[in-house]
Amino acid sequence: MSILVVGSVAFDSVKTPFGEKNHILGGAATYFSVAASFFSDVAIVGVVGDDFGPREEEVFRHRGIDISGIERVRGQQSFHWKGEYGFDLNVARTLDTQLNVFADFKPKLTDRLRDFPFIFLANIQPQLQREVRMQMKRPSLVAADTMNYWIENTREELIETLKGVDLLIINDSEARELAGEPNLVRAAKRILKMGPRRLVVKRGEYGAAMFGAGSYFSSPAYPLDDVFDPAGAGDSFAGGFMGYLAASGRTDEAALRRAMIYGSIMASYNVQEFSCSRMLRLSHDEIDQRFGELRAMTHFEDGDAPRRQV
Ligand code: AMP
Repeated sequence: MSILVVGSVAFDSVKTPFGEKNHILGGAATYFSVAASFFSDVAIVGVVGDDFGPREEEVFRHRGIDISGIERVRGQQSFHWKGEYGFDLNVARTLDTQLNVFADFKPKLTDRLRDFPFIFLANIQPQLQREVRMQMKRPSLVAADTMNYWIENTREELIETLKGVDLLIINDSEARELAGEPNLVRAAKRILKMGPRRLVVKRGEYGAAMFGAGSYFSSPAYPLDDVFDPAGAGDSFAGGFMGYLAASGRTDEAALRRAMIYGSIMASYNVQEFSCSRMLRLSHDEIDQRFGELRAMTHFEDGDAPRRQV
C-alpha cells in the first residue's frame, strides 16, 4: 500500500553543539518520505520555490519518491526553518520560521493521489492538513503530526483537524501542551478524546510510547554515542512507522508495535548526520541489524519474583 504525505519540504539552518549548517534540505515531508521509502511507495503533496533545484530533486528521485504533487512557485522561496539545539538534544529551539510559498498554498490533489489508502499529515498549518484530508476518498489510516508552533498559534484549527485523524504522532512536550496537562498519561487520555484512536508520543533519546484505549506500548530509542543532528528525528520516526504499516497492510496491535520499532530505527540513523545524508546511504541489512539489537535489548524472561516472608 502507498502513503501520501503532506507537509513542509524546506531549507533548514541548523545549529547543534557539534556544528552549524545553513540552507540544507529539510522539512517534515522530506524526512518522512525518505524514511518511509525504505518500506513502501510514498508520494508528497507540498510546495517549493525557485531555490528547489535539480540537486534537491535528485534526493527524492534517488529514493523513488513520487514528487509529482509538489507544486513549484516562480519568484518565491521555499519554507525556511532556523533552529538550534543545546546540549539537551531532545529540545529544539525555533529561531525563525518563514512559511514563504506555504503561506498561500491551496493543494489540489489529482484523482490518483486522492485514492491513496495511507495518509500522513506531517507538520504544517492544521488548516492545510484538513484541506488535504478532505480531498482523500476513503483512506484506511490517517495519521498526523504537529508542533508547539501550531498548538500555540492555531489551536482551534488544530482541534478541528484532529477530529479527522486516526493516529497522532507528537513529542511529549507537545502532548502536554495540547492537552493542557503535565501528567503524560492523563494528557494522552485527553488527546484520545479529541479524535485520534491512538497516540504515539516521541520522547527523543528516551524512546517512544503508544497509547490506545486500554493499551500501552513503549519502545526504547536505539542507544547511540554519536548523535549529531536531531532535526528530522520525529519525521523519520513517523516515516519508518507509517512505511512499515503501509507495507504490511495491517494496523492491528502487533503491527503497530513493530512499526514503533521501525520508527525508532529510522530516527536513530537519521540523527547520526546532518539533513537526511545518513538515510540516503542506508541499507536494508543495517535496518535489520538494529531491529535484532532492539529486540534483544527489550527482551526479558518470564519469572516469579522472590517472596520474602515477614
Ligand atoms: P523534527 O522531525 O520534529 O525534528 O522536524 C524537523 C523539520 O520540521 C525541519 O526540517 C523543519 O523544516 C520542519 N519544521 C520546523 N518547523 C515547522 C513548522 N512550523 N511547520 C512545518 N514544518 C516545520
